Amino acid sequence: MTEFPRPKLVVSKCLGFEACRWNGDIINDEFVARLKRLADFLPVCPEMEIGLGAPRKPLRLVDFPDGPHLLQWDTGRDCTGEMRAFCAAFLDSLPEVDGFLLKGRSPSCGPVDVKIYAGLAKGAASHRGRGMFGQAVAAGFPEAALEHEGRVRNFAIREHFLTKLFCLARFRAVKAAGTMRGLIAFHADHKLLLMAYSQQAMRRLGRLVANPDKLAPAQVLAAYQAGLQRALARNAALTSHINALMHAMGYFKNELNRREKAHFLDLLERYRAGKAPLSALLAVLGVWIARWGRDYLAGQVYFNPYPLELIEISDSGKGRDL
Ligand code: SF4
Repeated sequence: MTEFPRPKLVVSKCLGFEACRWNGDIINDEFVARLKRLADFLPVCPEMEIGLGAPRKPLRLVDFPDGPHLLQWDTGRDCTGEMRAFCAAFLDSLPEVDGFLLKGRSPSCGPVDVKIYAGLAKGAASHRGRGMFGQAVAAGFPEAALEHEGRVRNFAIREHFLTKLFCLARFRAVKAAGTMRGLIAFHADHKLLLMAYSQQAMRRLGRLVANPDKLAPAQVLAAYQAGLQRALARNAALTSHINALMHAMGYFKNELNRREKAHFLDLLERYRAGKAPLSALLAVLGVWIARWGRDYLAGQVYFNPYPLELIEISDSGKGRDL
């Protein structure tokens, strides 16, 4: 059975940890509930931390010449200074974390797409940006997995978030062990996954692991970490997944009959057209691995990037990308 690391992630406290929303509510988020068993959460409510209490008057982001300010919109109280000071102190005090799962649309936590108003009067938002805490997280931790609870309802976004989260957590353990042997094993197990994200990055990281200049392990690990974070910055492109899948298929070229090959290639074309999920192709490859055995493929994280309990087939239908 595959052993998974426990990712460490900061989460907005109102997502199932405390009734701290402006109206005194708590959000019982199913995804967070499931992840709770498999990850270590560090819950935080920035608005409670600056002493606003719950329930409280709601806040909104308002444009000022020096950037958006956080105002309590029916009293006009400006919480910007307190919130900035809290964000800096809190983020500075964090241990090494793998990701952040924040509450979307919040003027404090929202990591993207938060309404920013021209003033306090009633009316439409003038544009969108990040909440104040969300902005501080994105600026301070550009390499971490960062999402909000609304976006992870989309299948492709959730898959990328979880893949990255568990991959960074696995690497954190390798870095803590500090050995070249651990790094070599990590790279070997992640080759196909890296190929699916970026073939160039996979090769670059392979050269680092080969360590031709005989650098100290700490130096190689630091360089590898930076390269890994860059490789995982964006979701894998469809064409890169297809390269990785074709590469895996090549391991069975002598065993497959004409019909089996045609079936796989047909599925691949349907995947390319957005009419079949990646998981269907991975399942076929999984059956071939079980039947003919290929140690190299059997150990690839690509086939098992995060715990099975977290695999959901539900999708928000927004921007669906199988
Ligand atoms: S969104 Fe953030 S600030 Fe608002 S209640 Fe949730 S944790 Fe607190």
